[in-house]
Amino acid sequence: MKPAAKTLKIYTAKKIYPVSSEPIENGAVVTKNGKIVAIGIQKEIKERFPYPASSIERRASIIPAFVNAHTHLELDQFVGRVKIPQDFVPWIEEASMIFQKEFHENLHPEINVDSLKKAGICAIGDISSVGFSPKILNESGVSARIFHEGLDVLSANTEATFLNLKSRKNRFPNSDRLSNHFSPHTIWTTTEFLFKKINEIERFSSPHLAESPAETEFLKTGKGNIRQMKIRNNSLRKDWQPPGISPVRYFFRNNFATDWTLLVHMVQIEDSDWEILEQNKNKIAVCLCPISNKNLNCGIAPGREFLDRDFTVALGTDSAMSGESLDMLAVINSAMGDYGFSFEEALKCATLGGAKALKFDDKIGSIEVGKEAQLLVFDGKKIEWIEGVGK
Ligand SMILES: [Zn+2]
Repeated sequence: MKPAAKTLKIYTAKKIYPVSSEPIENGAVVTKNGKIVAIGIQKEIKERFPYPASSIERRASIIPAFVNAHTHLELDQFVGRVKIPQDFVPWIEEASMIFQKEFHENLHPEINVDSLKKAGICAIGDISSVGFSPKILNESGVSARIFHEGLDVLSANTEATFLNLKSRKNRFPNSDRLSNHFSPHTIWTTTEFLFKKINEIERFSSPHLAESPAETEFLKTGKGNIRQMKIRNNSLRKDWQPPGISPVRYFFRNNFATDWTLLVHMVQIEDSDWEILEQNKNKIAVCLCPISNKNLNCGIAPGREFLDRDFTVALGTDSAMSGESLDMLAVINSAMGDYGFSFEEALKCATLGGAKALKFDDKIGSIEVGKEAQLLVFDGKKIEWIEGVGK
């Protein structure tokens, strides 16, 4: 028996990018009750579903809604407050100072969620510093992995930091669309002890790694801008010795990876790091944030190599304070320019790559039968929702 016409929606377009398979010229997508029930060329779909279809503008394409795999929504209220471009260390020092002094919950939560939806985003990986983002995302319909960030620059505070983090995370229930996780911030702000404490109870984390040249310098020599900043804010541990190896080596040598780890940035990769990355390929994903990296003078990640070596590659804006906005089309353009990705490759990272990285790929990230109808129309310049969380 054929489903009733009124519950079906049929969209036709010049081109459809399922992302999980080759683009379809003159294609059609059929949805029912928010789920994709068919996709194919228009002729076949019209034979199978002889109902009126809404045609998308002649030259436009249908694409899956975006997955922004790395955001810091709690920082976004301070967008524009710290000058960019500038070097990573002065930027993070000023940004954290403003956040610590001025963050309060008395802002307009709808601003954050609205800008996600306006940017065509149906899922995010968000770093939470104070437990505010799960509150605003809870009812939003946006799918989210929330990573409650831990750092203990002063080793004396480690136990308290951990307990604090644990109680913060436990305040938020998980649902179908939203889950809460712990995540260490990064290797130069989080002690080995806290990394290990977190890893004892967490299986899915998303730390920043190999972001700035200053991070590599600090790991290798114990010197440079990070050391100076730590001296200024009284967080240089007396017992800390530089391991003298790259951030990636240090991370894996200490078993800091969880069962599944979404590593954010991964710009400062050395030739000798690839072997260890290959060994861990099936337990890590990589989130590249090209706009943020450019604005903080961090350089260009080896995006091409990650893709050619078949890593799970996602894209993210990072916080709007360094990434300018939550605009994933801008990130796609940067990935094409900086990494030499084709449009299709960049789109795949911004959708299915992100969904895999966040373990949402059973529901979203591509236009496939059985997945949610999170669909955008793209005319080459801008996007609009057809169906899904932003409609
Ligand atoms: Zn970040």
